[in-house]
Amino acid sequence: QNNINDISREKSAELYEKAKTYFPGGVNSPVRAFKSVYGTPLFIQKGDGSHLWDADGNEFIDYCCSWGPLILGHNNAQVREKVIEVLQNGMSFGAPTALENELAELILTNNRFIEKLRFTSSGTEAVMSAIRLARGYTKRDKILKFEGCYHGHSDSLLVKAGSGLVTFGETSSAGIPKAFADETIVVSLNDTNALDAAFAEFKGQIAAVIIEPIPANNGLLLQEKAYLQYLREICTQNGTLLIFDEVISGFRVGFEGAAGYYNIQPDIITYGKIIGGGLPVGMYGSSAKIMDHISPVGTVYQAGTLSGNPVAMAAGIAQLNQLLQPGFYEALNNKTTAFANAIQQYADEKGYHFKVYQIRSIFWFAFTDAEAIRAAEEINPASMVDFKVMHRELLNRGIYLGPSGYEVGFISSAHTDDDLAKTKQAIFESLDIVFNS
Ligand code: PMP
Repeated sequence: QNNINDISREKSAELYEKAKTYFPGGVNSPVRAFKSVYGTPLFIQKGDGSHLWDADGNEFIDYCCSWGPLILGHNNAQVREKVIEVLQNGMSFGAPTALENELAELILTNNRFIEKLRFTSSGTEAVMSAIRLARGYTKRDKILKFEGCYHGHSDSLLVKAGSGLVTFGETSSAGIPKAFADETIVVSLNDTNALDAAFAEFKGQIAAVIIEPIPANNGLLLQEKAYLQYLREICTQNGTLLIFDEVISGFRVGFEGAAGYYNIQPDIITYGKIIGGGLPVGMYGSSAKIMDHISPVGTVYQAGTLSGNPVAMAAGIAQLNQLLQPGFYEALNNKTTAFANAIQQYADEKGYHFKVYQIRSIFWFAFTDAEAIRAAEEINPASMVDFKVMHRELLNRGIYLGPSGYEVGFISSAHTDDDLAKTKQAIFESLDIVFNS
């Protein structure tokens, strides 16, 4: 039983009916369809700072932040102004520009873990290219990934992936040739025995191990540092490259991402949307020695008409410069920790089976008593029913979370103390409804 009226979704519903005639499921990316939560998707009209407005004029405090990249909130003035300045000179040339150098320099001089990089237009492309590079470099075919880790939608990686696949109860995609899936070994997170067994069975065949070092696409499955160090060691011993997929954690948990947070040197790192400040950008980076296997210097081909697009580079430059300001991450992290702690304290006082897992400015709400959840199979799918109720109650109270209980939430520098106080109150009320009705 919800205590307040559902928000009006008349305009969104009308747009959704039309959209269904144009796009499969009415959307251009599956999780947007609100399939696992209440009602039709909200069609967004505008975002400003920490707030969103939908087509019906409902206003929300946004904790999805375009699935992470909007670490400065929506419509950040410096990003917007830089984009407008640059796009007045044309929007794409398919030729090099100084802006690519500028963004690369900003990244490389502030990141100890990579020496050279390539820009792409999405996280999927970055990861797909990193895998090809690892295979070309090692001259091996197999890759090893972890159950619940999502790495974009390229063929060899859509095996036991998280994100929209787990939300809809299918962990792997149709349409992947068996021969491709056979080259992907999948093991559980947080299980060194499974790793040992895979390396023994496929000795000398594994090109790369790919992991989200902060797995955030199947809940937030925080790993222990010792486990990540073990992974580093076993890769080194076997001549296998370690790829950190930092599409979520990169520039989010700190400018140097999870590699910096854990102080572990992977062989290749992939980054995504956060570099574009809301525009389509991804990248992968590594040592100069490994990166020089990429065409036109090396024999591993990878290209893109819109790679390093000037407008996207401009947004990235304006966004990353703000992240480098002294105290930026500290303030964001402290704000999120206080928010998560206050919610946990409320749930504990009431005796609710509810945990807030958090790392830096990423959080995840889980309906459980477990002190830690480190592997996908430890999540009880039945708990998603509680998330569905909570999501609806929060929308009714003006709080927007991504429409899936398997997805994490993000706090941006634009979230004010007032936003967070209102959100906490809405969460307390929503939890009372989940646990008392
Ligand atoms: N890797 C990770 C860890 C991701 O979270 C995502 C998407 N959120 C991707 C890769 C794919 O990125 P994109 O959706 O931009 O292609």
